This record gives sequence, structure tokens and C-alpha cells, in this order.
Amino acid sequence: MNTEQLSQRLARVAEYIPDGAAFADIGSDHAYLPCHVVSKGKVPFAVAGEVAEGPFQSARNQVNQEGLGDKIAVRKGNGLEVIEGGEVDCVAIAGMGGALIASILEEGKEKLSSVKRLVLQPNISAISIRKWLIENGWELIEEDILEEDGKIYEILVAEHGEPLRPYKGKDENSAFLFGPFLTAQKTDTFQKKWQHEMKNWQRILQELDKAADSEETRTRRLELGQKISMAEEAVKSEKS
Ligand code: SAM
Repeated sequence: MNTEQLSQRLARVAEYIPDGAAFADIGSDHAYLPCHVVSKGKVPFAVAGEVAEGPFQSARNQVNQEGLGDKIAVRKGNGLEVIEGGEVDCVAIAGMGGALIASILEEGKEKLSSVKRLVLQPNISAISIRKWLIENGWELIEEDILEEDGKIYEILVAEHGEPLRPYKGKDENSAFLFGPFLTAQKTDTFQKKWQHEMKNWQRILQELDKAADSEETRTRRLELGQKISMAEEAVKSEKS
């Protein structure tokens, strides 16, 4: 992967960044995403934020090598603290767990009032992000799913709006877990992801059946049973 040839995952994330946006990529690592969108002329300016020294240096080197230092500000810091209020209107956070992405959004939420669009790509636990969006006035406007190198990734795109709109008329628990748009689209990749998860849950359930009976195992069994029935429903081939 490099700036010219992004991974499919980051290329898909880039598609959701509006043309002309003032853009920040938080947890940028090599800064491939900001270098790509700036060098292609998709956005005029970007911030690459990184909390860790090694990836921060990689981002700086990449931006310098590409001669993009006047258009990409590489900043070291935790989450959204690297952006000034009003500085950017689109923020991407990609390649981390959903819970970490939600905590970055929560800790920096005062920086988000000028931000019009969030493009979020959790590696796991997209549900943590869907919950955060609902609790904070963001409306999910699109979801995407793709497979690359044997891994399945989800992308969530949100703007300020009516947080519950995409969930209207749907089973909320199920839509939080599987995604309201993804459930409606039911792509092959979506079905593959949840069939795989379902098998994992069934395996854990079988293990729990062998474990000593306790309040904890009973609760866990119940939760897993509910998740398995929701997944069975979600992967049924009819589109909702
Ligand atoms: N965004 C790139 C991508 O999708 O390919 C890099 C993903 S990499 C797995 C995650 C990066 O996020 C790491 O470089 C890590 O240091 C950085 N990171 C983790 N927590 C962060 C935080 N709170 N603020 C800024 N960067 C963070």
C-alpha cells in the first residue's frame, strides 16, 4: 500500500470524504489517506493526527517525501485534540476498534460542532459507534462493508441530523448490531461476516452448556441465544 495505491479499505473510506472538504484523519499512521486525497486534488487541506511517536514520524516522513508539507499538517496528539475548533468539516477515523473510535469522539466532542461529516471504519464493534452516534445527535447516512485479505470491514458515515431516522420501523437491537443500511442491503460480504460470527457464538454457547450453572453463565447463554436468533434473521436472504 502507498499513497498512489491505497488498500481497498482506505480507498473505500476516501470515497466518502466530500470533494473540497477540510479534512482530518485521526490515527493516521503513515498518512496514506490524507496524502492520497490531497495529492489527487480531492481535498485542498488535511490534518494527519497521531498519538504514537513511531506512526507520527512515519506520517511526517511520508508527507515530506511527497512534498505535501504545505497542504497536510501532521500533528502529534490524542484524538481530536490535534484539530482547532472550526478547522475541519470532515473527520475520518479508520482501522481501530469501534469502542476506541467512540471514545475518541466522546473525548473530543466539543471539536465536532463545525464538522459536517464523520467517516468511521471500525475493525470490530461497529455497534459501539452506532450507539455513540445516536446519543450525540449524529445520523448515520450510509454504511458500507467490504472484504480485503480475508478480513471484513465496515464503514459508517454520519452527519448531524435525526439519529433515530435510519432505525425507524426496524428492530432496534438488531439494527444497532448489524447496521440499519447493511441489514437492508444484505450483501454477500454482510452474510459471510454474520454467518461466521454466528458460528462463533454457537461454539461459545456449546462450551457454556458444559460449564457449571451460575447466574453469570445463564445471562451469557441468554445473550448469546438472542444474538444468534437476531443473526439468523439478519442473514436470511430476503432484503428488508
Ligand atoms: N488509520 C490508518 C488505517 O486505517 O490504515 C491507521 C490505522 S492503525 C491500525 C491505528 C493508528 O491509530 C495507530 O497508528 C495508533 O497509534 C493510532 N491511534 C490510536 N489511538 C489514537 C488516538 N487516541 N489518537 C490518535 N491516534 C490514535
